[in-house]
Amino acid sequence: MNVNDTEVAWSILQAHGYQRTNNIREADVVLVMTCSIREGAEQKIWNKLDYLRGLKNKRLANKKATPMKIGILGCMAERLKKKLVEKEKSIDVVVGPDSYRDLPRLLAIVESGETAVNVLLSMEETYADIVPVRLSENRQSAFVSVMRGCDNMCTYCIVPFTRGRERSRPVESIVEEVRHLSGEGVKEVTLLGQNVNSYRDTSVMQHAGFFEDERQTSLAKGFKTVYKTKKGGLRFADLLDRVSQVDPDMRIRFTSPHPKDFPDEVLYLIRDRSNICNSIHLPAQCGSTRVLELMRRGYTREAYCELVSGS
Ligand code: SF4
Repeated sequence: MNVNDTEVAWSILQAHGYQRTNNIREADVVLVMTCSIREGAEQKIWNKLDYLRGLKNKRLANKKATPMKIGILGCMAERLKKKLVEKEKSIDVVVGPDSYRDLPRLLAIVESGETAVNVLLSMEETYADIVPVRLSENRQSAFVSVMRGCDNMCTYCIVPFTRGRERSRPVESIVEEVRHLSGEGVKEVTLLGQNVNSYRDTSVMQHAGFFEDERQTSLAKGFKTVYKTKKGGLRFADLLDRVSQVDPDMRIRFTSPHPKDFPDEVLYLIRDRSNICNSIHLPAQCGSTRVLELMRRGYTREAYCELVSGS
């Protein structure tokens, strides 16, 4: 997900005239894409900041050189917000996962010597119209982000607080991106989302003038959600169906799914389409029903085992 976010942020900056360098000593702006999923991931960033502070100070000592700016992007920016700049004075810009479009404006503010922060979470942002610029050229595989955020609120997880509410990209924009990748010779696409199979494109209904479709959400047997049952829109099975038809020779994968969103139609589609890879990531999280309840996962050990055995 962070690789894809980096590609989105890079696409936005490239459109505003920024150039990329692989030599950090040449960079006038260093942006660090961060993760908050575990303490270790954040500690790595703090260590990296020690190194960047050193580089920045060296640059400052050279009166002829352009001062270096340091930016923190992603989940750590969202979690710590202004605390980041209070704790680490070398940081110039803090940008949450839903604010990458604002990067050029924030970097312009920074040019005048101020610190810039935008960590607003959005109910709509999916970066649907931004074509990510692939970080490595001539790759055989690519990530395609299809949805962002998560509404599940598992008790141990920070994602709903750093990535915000669940929202999905319109099917058409995803199919278009996959078509484009196929034209570029990409052979494998991984559909990405925090809760990828909970995908729901409601834009189609709105465009057609129907704001609510009565189709009930179909969950795997024995699974429930902590949120009110959602209705309408195109679901993950519809998306998989469309994407898998773009190029029969292109392999389709997806990550990360939640076991509740494996209704029969998704499973039948995986069985019937030869280019949808026959591998299912089914996060169990725990084998104890009591602990699963404490984690607020919405299923029991028995329901999970039944889903696996297909009974
Ligand atoms: S479903 Fe996944 S991303 Fe969402 S709250 Fe639970 S563990 Fe976090």
